[in-house]
Amino acid sequence: MSTRTRPCPRCGTRYPFRDAAGKTITHCRSCRVPLRPKRFHMNKRRTRWVHIYFLSRKGLTYHEYKLRLQAVGVDTCKDLNREQYARLFREGRKLPDSPKWKTGKRRIAA
Ligand SMILES: [Zn+2]
Repeated sequence: MSTRTRPCPRCGTRYPFRDAAGKTITHCRSCRVPLRPKRFHMNKRRTRWVHIYFLSRKGLTYHEYKLRLQAVGVDTCKDLNREQYARLFREGRKLPDSPKWKTGKRRIAA
């Protein structure tokens, strides 16, 4: 478990990301202002999920997938930030699932 902390932007009190009960601390307890969210970065698990979701589940071609990345402002999924990642999936959810995905026939090549 991480022991990293983040400060309140107003009073500077530092808080760990989670309290003793394991609940995420999102606001300063004395000022009630929101704390900065945890830094977002594309890790291996997220990039793999993006690939599976769009190439296998939604059945996009690699080219179509790249166009979607470019539509949110990046060339590679490794450069996605939190907002772009959310936008990519917000749009992606509207796509129908690939029929091959539905029957479980299509598997992504590792
Ligand atoms: Zn505060």
